[in-house]
Amino acid sequence: MSEPIPRARPIAAARLMKRVMADHFLRLDEAARDPSRKVAWCNSVGPGELLHGFGFEVYYPENHSAILGATRKATEYIPYANARGYSPEICSYLTADIGAFMKGFTPLKKAYGIEAVPRPDVLVYNTNQCRDVQDWFRWYGRHFGVPCIGVHTHRNIDEVTDTHVASISGQFQELARDLAGIAGHSLDMDRFRDVVRLSARCSQLWEQVLRTAMARPSPLTFFDGTIHMGPAVVLRGTKVAVDYYETLLQELRSRVSDGVAAVEGERFRLYWEGMPIWGKLRSLSEQFLGLRSCVLASTYCNSWIFNQLDPDDPFDSMARAYTELFIVRSDPVKEQYISRMCADFQVDGIIYHDARTCPNNSNNRYGMPGRLADRLGIPYLTIDGDLNDLRLYSEEQARTSIEAFIEQLDQD
Ligand code: SF4
Repeated sequence: MSEPIPRARPIAAARLMKRVMADHFLRLDEAARDPSRKVAWCNSVGPGELLHGFGFEVYYPENHSAILGATRKATEYIPYANARGYSPEICSYLTADIGAFMKGFTPLKKAYGIEAVPRPDVLVYNTNQCRDVQDWFRWYGRHFGVPCIGVHTHRNIDEVTDTHVASISGQFQELARDLAGIAGHSLDMDRFRDVVRLSARCSQLWEQVLRTAMARPSPLTFFDGTIHMGPAVVLRGTKVAVDYYETLLQELRSRVSDGVAAVEGERFRLYWEGMPIWGKLRSLSEQFLGLRSCVLASTYCNSWIFNQLDPDDPFDSMARAYTELFIVRSDPVKEQYISRMCADFQVDGIIYHDARTCPNNSNNRYGMPGRLADRLGIPYLTIDGDLNDLRLYSEEQARTSIEAFIEQLDQD
């Protein structure tokens, strides 16, 4: 008789997080309809602190597109953007989001009764993650007839030098001058510093949350992380996010002290490198649960840890935080980072997700898996798929590969 499949252990703070996220979207919706308030759109690792410093309500289209993915609506709307000349090979956050907008669809309607995404007064990007965010935002800038401005970051960086920091900090300061014209007032430095302080605190707490997974057994999985990272992405710089992560951290620490496992009978500990497959989080999570293997650390969830933020030096510290990011760095730096993570979290194997439409977050394409396997002496698996376009993912193939990979770990 086969063993019963363990059940997932829901995190109690998830209810609070749902409320926090609902309030965020409802506040944005109200702001967009109030002529006295201003809305800025920002990419997920863009200068959100600066925008909050000016008092903008801040909306993150990547988060919206991830919701399209998680609700399995993305694949349906991607072809509409493709038909307008946005290739099926480019970011499927971009194509799903623009396609859904063109057809007047938003998942916010079903979730919160919100008819449409909030109309922006300005769109602000940082190309630190990719050029797609710039092209994505420019489409909306043209559509709404509002300014689309941004920061152009160095890429593939080995060591982050003072020259890099000065160049990005200078661009942030220039951005602040443009934003003053749009906000109708200059930047209140006290408010800005306060936002940076709250963002730094949110980041510290989020890091502590993720590091609870160093415990054996781990109290949370990567799949939990992709859900609970919401406030770190869209609400960093606010007290709401800080309060939320204090609550979540407390719950996870009690799980650790009580020995409560996210995956009952945890046998293997895995690292996820690359984007989530938003429409398949649940089925992947259940498969790993059944295999008693815990995917417990990732580059992706760690991308919203900005330890460099310093309220006493807001522009330069933001420049450093948004340039030292994993995605901006060279392969040797990335390899060093993943090696440290695998040691800290006692990882038995690495899963690379080759997300077809996001080369920026697919680090398996230039020999890194082999180099890391040699260096760390642990096996790896590559899964072909995509963040949002489920036509690029074969569930059957992925399931079989994962089962075989766990069998291989069993035999090692
Ligand atoms: S990093 Fe990848 S997923 Fe994110 S916006 Fe850029 S191309 Fe899209």
